[in-house]
Amino acid sequence: MTLLSDLVAAVSGGSIEVVDLTAPLSEQTPILTLPEQFGQTWPFALSEISRYDDRGPAWYWNNITTGEHTGTHFDAPVHWVTGGPDAEDVSQVAPRKLLAPAAVLDFSAEAAKDPDFLLEIDHVRQWEAQHGPLPKGGWLLYRTGWDARSSDADAFINGGRSPGISVECAKWIAEEAPVIGVGVETVGTDAGAAHSFDPAFPCHTFLLGSNKYGLTQLRNLGELPPTGAVVIAAPLPIVGGSGSPCRVLALVERR
Ligand code: MN
Repeated sequence: MTLLSDLVAAVSGGSIEVVDLTAPLSEQTPILTLPEQFGQTWPFALSEISRYDDRGPAWYWNNITTGEHTGTHFDAPVHWVTGGPDAEDVSQVAPRKLLAPAAVLDFSAEAAKDPDFLLEIDHVRQWEAQHGPLPKGGWLLYRTGWDARSSDADAFINGGRSPGISVECAKWIAEEAPVIGVGVETVGTDAGAAHSFDPAFPCHTFLLGSNKYGLTQLRNLGELPPTGAVVIAAPLPIVGGSGSPCRVLALVERR
């Protein structure tokens, strides 16, 4: 037996479960709308080329249009001005970083009470006191319960009020925590109100500026243990891309 054959046997036998953390990608997938002076991202759309018809009698296929930052997606450092034009694009992220351990910090109860809830350094410290240090080279996955809103774009965007991470905590995660990035359930890694923070959009500012990554619109984080899950995050290798829709899976050991 080898490590990989043990892994395959555990997956087929059910002692390792594969949990899909990815939101379905469709024309209904919620997207960010920026103030009108800025350029806008496109929603996802299919455009049919043929469907077993005169345009292609034996085949069905589509063209797709989408923003890079639509649905469950990966933010690369080049996305933000603090990373800058020479920072990693999404095709340049080392494949070994796309498979990494995850810490799952559940603040869904707090976010249910307060849609503007912000994760603070002390919250992470309290989590670490209970579960141990954040994983080196891993993800901090921040559960807020927001995935329950993902089928209703209005509730998901919620008038721009959604939970996030404080300026101080984002800076700490970027500069001091051992993780390679943050994953969230909301439309972006920053809080809905983060345009008014100082600096604005601190997760983007500090994490991407520190060559770390973001994962957004995750779901099913509630099926993961606080520690021990392994995440496979697979963005398309778009050359020059600032981000990409991403299939995100978690391997979870079931006893
Ligand atoms: Mn993004």
